[in-house]
Formats: sequence, C-alpha cells, structure tokens
Amino acid sequence: MAKDNYLEKLNPPQREAVTHPEGPLMIIAGAGSGKTRVLTYRIAWLIEQGVDPFNILSLTFTNKAAGEMRQRIEAVIGNDAKNLWMGTFHSVFAKILRFEGKRLGYTSDFTIYDTDDSRSLMRTIIKELGLDDKTYKPNYVLNRISSAKNALVSWEAYANNPVYMEDDKAARMPEIGRLYKMYVLRCFQANAMDFDDLLYNTNVLFRDHLDVLNKYQHKFKHVMVDEFQDTNVSQYLITRKLSSVHQNICIVGDDAQSIYAFRGANIQNILNFKADYPDLKVVKLEQNYRSTQTIVNAANSVIARNKEQLEKNVFSENEEGSKIDVIKAASDNEEGRLIATNIFEEKNNNSLKNTDFAILYRTNAQSRAFEEALRKLNIKYRIVGGLSFYQRKEIKDLLAYLRFTINQNDEEAFKRIINLPKRGIGDTTVAKIVVTAAENGKSVWEVVSNINQYIAGRAAQTIDDFATLIKSYGLLIEEGKDAHTVASYIAKTSGLLKELYDDKTVEGLARYENIQELLNSIKQFVDNPENEEVTLSAFLQTVTLMTTADQEDEDGDHDRVTLMTIHGAKGLEFKYVYIVGLEENLFPSQMMLSKRSDLEEERRLFYVAITRAEKKLTLSYAESRYNYGRLNYCEPSRFLEEIDPKYLQISRSRVISYGNSDARNDRPATSSPVPAGFTKKETLISNLRPVQKAAPVNHTPTGDFVASDTSNLKAGDKVEHPKFGYGTVTKMDINGNDRKATIKFDAQGQGEKTLLLSFAKLRIV
Ligand code: ATP
Ligand code: MG
Repeated sequence: MAKDNYLEKLNPPQREAVTHPEGPLMIIAGAGSGKTRVLTYRIAWLIEQGVDPFNILSLTFTNKAAGEMRQRIEAVIGNDAKNLWMGTFHSVFAKILRFEGKRLGYTSDFTIYDTDDSRSLMRTIIKELGLDDKTYKPNYVLNRISSAKNALVSWEAYANNPVYMEDDKAARMPEIGRLYKMYVLRCFQANAMDFDDLLYNTNVLFRDHLDVLNKYQHKFKHVMVDEFQDTNVSQYLITRKLSSVHQNICIVGDDAQSIYAFRGANIQNILNFKADYPDLKVVKLEQNYRSTQTIVNAANSVIARNKEQLEKNVFSENEEGSKIDVIKAASDNEEGRLIATNIFEEKNNNSLKNTDFAILYRTNAQSRAFEEALRKLNIKYRIVGGLSFYQRKEIKDLLAYLRFTINQNDEEAFKRIINLPKRGIGDTTVAKIVVTAAENGKSVWEVVSNINQYIAGRAAQTIDDFATLIKSYGLLIEEGKDAHTVASYIAKTSGLLKELYDDKTVEGLARYENIQELLNSIKQFVDNPENEEVTLSAFLQTVTLMTTADQEDEDGDHDRVTLMTIHGAKGLEFKYVYIVGLEENLFPSQMMLSKRSDLEEERRLFYVAITRAEKKLTLSYAESRYNYGRLNYCEPSRFLEEIDPKYLQISRSRVISYGNSDARNDRPATSSPVPAGFTKKETLISNLRPVQKAAPVNHTPTGDFVASDTSNLKAGDKVEHPKFGYGTVTKMDINGNDRKATIKFDAQGQGEKTLLLSFAKLRIV
C-alpha cells in the first residue's frame, strides 16, 4: 500500500510543528485548526525518523479520541501503530501501575473501583463510624476526597491542613478527614484503586521510587498530550516528570476551550508552561479548516468577551457559509419538534446522512424532547455519554414503582424497588420471598402483602410497611386519579425524590432533574387533549412502546444523529450542529452566574459548542419550559446577544403538524387573522404561547424588569436594558425579520452595542 503523503496535507506552521526535531513544543491554537491532526502526524513522522513506537507516549482525554488517533496513524504508518503507548491518562497509568504497583503494596491484579463501588464503600464506612449519612452524604464526601487527591493532598496532609479542616467544620462535617483515612485504608486492604488513585498513586510511585521514574523517563523519549488545557495538577506533574530527561514534550491545546475547571483542570497549566520550559518552541495555528467563515467569526465574537486568554486570531478561508439560524420555540417540546423537523428537511434537501447532524445541550436531562421528536419522524439517533432518557437508573427506578403499582405480579419491578430507597432489606430476604412465592404457588405480591405468615422479625415489619405503601398507591388508581397525580405522589412518598434531593452533588442534582423531567412529560401527557385516557396505565403503555422501539433501533445501523452534552463533544466535528436550550439559567447554567471566572468558563463551553460545526450552525431556545412540574417562562440566553448579530438570522416559529400529534396544546390556529397593529410573526408567536399561567420571570438582574414593545423603536429613543443599563438608540437596521438597534449605553465600559430586537429585552424610557 502506498504510504499516505501526509506532509503535503499540512500548512507551513503545521508542518513546522510536525517536523520539530527535539525539545519541548507547545502548539497553542484555535478550535479546528488541526491540533489533533498535527499531533497525529507528528507521531507518524517520529516513527518514520526511526523512533520506536514503544518509546512514544500519547495521552488523550477520551478512549474515543485515542482510538481515532490510532486509526489515523495506522493509515499513515501501518501496523507499527499498535505498539504506541496511547490512551487516556487513566488507562495508560493503570497499565504502569499493574507493572509497578507492588512498590506501593498492590498486586498486579488490583481492582479498579467504579463510582458505584466507591459510593457503596463510603456508605459502609460512614455507618461503621457511627456517623449519620444524612449529614455525611457519601457523594459529597467522595467529591471532597477526589479534589484532595487531584491536588495531591494525602489523607495525612488533609487531616493536618487547617483550611480543609475549617471548611469541613463550616459544612458541619468535621469527620471528613477521618473518612478519607478509612476510605484509603479500606481500598488498600481490598487491593483496589478508584479512578483518582490511578493518577494519585502514579505520582506517589514516581516521587518515592526514583529508579521506577528513571526507567519510564528513559523509556518515553517523546511525550504528547492532546487537549492539554484540561489537565489537572496531578496529570500535569506526571507529564512533567516523565519528560524531564529527554525534554521532548509536545503539548497541544487551546486555552479558549478549557471547560473542566470544576474537575480541577487548571488553565494556568497552559499559561505557565513557558516558565517551566524555558527552551520551549511555541507554534501558533490560526487557520481553521473545519468551519465556514461565518461560524469562525461568530465564535470569535463570543470568546473576545473573555478577559483571561492568550492572544490568537483564528480565521477561516472556507466558504462564507450561511448565517447562523436562531430558532425561537414556544416550549421545550416545540423546540424538540422544530429541531427534528429542521433536521428532516435539511437531510432531504441536501442528501445528508444522520451522522452529519449533532444536537448539543448543556445538561443530559434536555435530551427527552429531542428523542421524542426524532422518534416521531423516524430519524435514528444515539445518545453519547449519557443513557437514553428512559434507560437512566433513576428513571427506571420510578417507572418500576409505577409498574408495580399497576401490576403487582411484575417481579422484576419488585426486585428493583423493594430496597429502594434503602430500607435494610437484603438480597437474602428478597431471594427468600421470591422462593417462598414459587414454592407456595403464589405471586410475590401475595407473599409480600401477607408477610407475617412467612417470616418474622424486623424485616417482616419493613416489608409490611412497603406493602401498605403500595396499597395506598392502588387506592389512588381506584379513585381514578390521573397519571401525573399518581406518579408525583409516588415519587414523593416512596422517598425516591427525597433521596436525590438530599444528594447535593452535581450528579445527584442531575438525577433529581431527570425525575422532574419525567414528571413533566407525564403532566404533558395528561394535559394533552388528544389523549382520551390519561391514567397511569395508559401512560406506561406509551412509555413501554417507546423503550421497545429503542431496543429495536440497536440493529447495527450506525447512521444516527448524535445527541450529547457539549462537554462530551470536545474535539469532535459535525456538518450540522444544533445548540439547544439557549436560555438564561440553563446555558449559562444558574450555578455559573455568580463569579466572572465561572461565567468565562461557561462562555468557553459555548465557544466549544459553536466550533463543532462545519457547514451550518443553528441555535435554539424555548420561551417556556416545564421545570419542577411548573411551566416557567424563560429568558433567552445572554450568549445569543453576545454573537455579533451580522452572523445571525432569526427564523420564524413555524407550524409543525404530525397528524396525530400531541402538539395541539401549544399549536397555533393556522388561519387566525392578523389583528391590526401586529405583524404576522407576532401573532404567530403570541399564539404559540402556552395558555397556562406561567410563574413570573424572577431572574432578571434588575428584578421586575418589564420589556416594552419595540416595534416602533427609532434612533434617538432612550432605553433601558436589564444588563447593560440605560442608553440611547443611535441607529436602526431593519432587514426582514432581523431588526437590529445600535445603542450607545451610558455606563462606563459598556460602549455601543448592536442588539437584535427579537430577543433583546428593552424598556423604552
Ligand atoms: P479542536 O480544537 O476542536 O480539537 P483541532 O485543532 O484538534 O480542533 P483537528 O480536529 O485536528 O483540529 O482538525 C479540524 C479539521 O480540519 C479536521 O477535519 C482536519 O482533518 C482538518 N484539517 C486540519 N488541518 C488541515 C489542513 N492543513 N488542510 C486541510 N484540512 C485540515
Ligand atoms: Mg482536537
């Protein structure tokens, strides 16, 4: 096979980086400028120069990225690629620890604990120490331990550190230090390491066993790190130590794409790299090969607002491309339908494949509306990095309760919920019930509801309580209550919701939101006038059908639309990208609004999202969204206003009909006349507004800011903007649906801004 003539597929600075002979090299470059390509080709080039693949270490952030890189290298150099040391930080250092772990007292077959194992162990320890797991939430404690480990703070150092101690006291958990110690000892006794240990122990290994460090320092003649902006201290130290003999470290990164600070990633690593390696060669790549000019320029206009960043000027010489569509939807469900329809049309009009499309969102819980809408249009999709909504544990848990309420012969549902939330009913008791039922020719429920005839003691009492609970649910069904009433009652009284509510970690919050999202969808099911029957049983039937359709989809067909969080999309590219849910408090996330540095991280996340698109970018937001069982109005995201409006085009909300759709609730009357003084579009949008009374918007910075009708806004008018304050309109620019106002704001530092009137909230004063 003729070798790929890869050097010709590079521009001069890329080629310079690929063929850089020796010494530290930093490639700081914008999104889509070929960083990963350079790293890949550099490995190929080094091998061609005679470097043994065994002597090259290449670290990436995801297994997927490592796999793709290996494939690309194989295309250039063939089979030799197999011998490279390439993988994620965790996988590569687990491998080294398998060889060397005995130095630290582990055998080579140590177990790696996943998060469930860690949580279960922490629960046990909390109990054994006689602490209350309502105060000491296992996830919270584990998060504290994780950040300590990632900052290389041992349990001894933790216990002696006044800052940690004070923080824990303030959080009313003064015993975390002791829990940390116990946890480490127990993992060690079990010959097990958790994910953080893989990095932490590698650091300890290299610190305390210089002969081992020496061996790997000599072995790895070249060390490469992709997405370097997302390394934490622990990872940084490992790479620095490993490369300190040969000094052949090549790091690739983009400070504008640093999005993992919440996991301890330190943007300073990239900013300080120069100080650590005085001989550093720096290569800047500024030409973006991925995206149209419009997309690149729009991304630049957003990121320019961040203060902390290295100077870069990213440009594209690709076609100018079409403008960025902004879609306004009346509700989250309509957002799903509009995006799915858009994909359907684009796909047919331009002969595209499903894999050309990606829908990116801020939180996993947002996937539901898109999943449903895509299913209705028979468009295949896959959820990356998160389970399909109905396969998530917490959703399956609540559905199991609902199933068991309806059908007490459902043994799988029983097994799932009998000890959920934890009631102290062990597997043995469950097994005993199942066996007793079988032996007596009775159903599990018959045994459970007459438990005192079969077993005695504390477990019998607990099971009896459980049976009473389920019976109380049955009464609601008999009374003919609707699905939403019953499901909300069950979520509350079963303790499922409370358990998740009490868990204040990021994952706990996400799971809580998922349950709320399920309840929202049941509410919509009940509110939909097209559904004649709105019982729990009717709802479960539709869900069961959905999940079956899901399973049928697993037919080896890889042509699917990708649905993922923006975090998961790092490094990837798609022809058509939809960034959805662009609303205040969702994106930017409510949790990221209080500090400038947090908001900058959130803005970098938006930058990452925009720069995934090759040909066409679409942004969307919903004007209302069910949240915690209530319909709330949402405010468009500030990020929409941050894109230079010359790259945007506002789409009309359109009428979508699926025949038997559930959309009647918020579907406008197509033939409604246009009242005097309104444009067609305004009528359409006001018609699209859901009828329910929504809770007032309570998150505008100025409190009860009420926007004015700006249809007659003209130059010279004085206005107030909720974020930028008072100002004067200096210019109006009207182009079809796009109405822009240039406003000179009075406040210092605000200056002149051009805002799109369709989503800028302005009060005429
Ligand atoms: P990200 O910041 O998203 O990780 P990146 O800088 O790693 O992006 P790559 O993924 O390596 O960028 O490249 C982006 C796209 O541009 C890829 O499709 C790649 O094949 C293509 N590309 C890179 N360099 C060139 C070039 N010199 N000529 C043509 N295409 C190129
Ligand atoms: Mg990359």
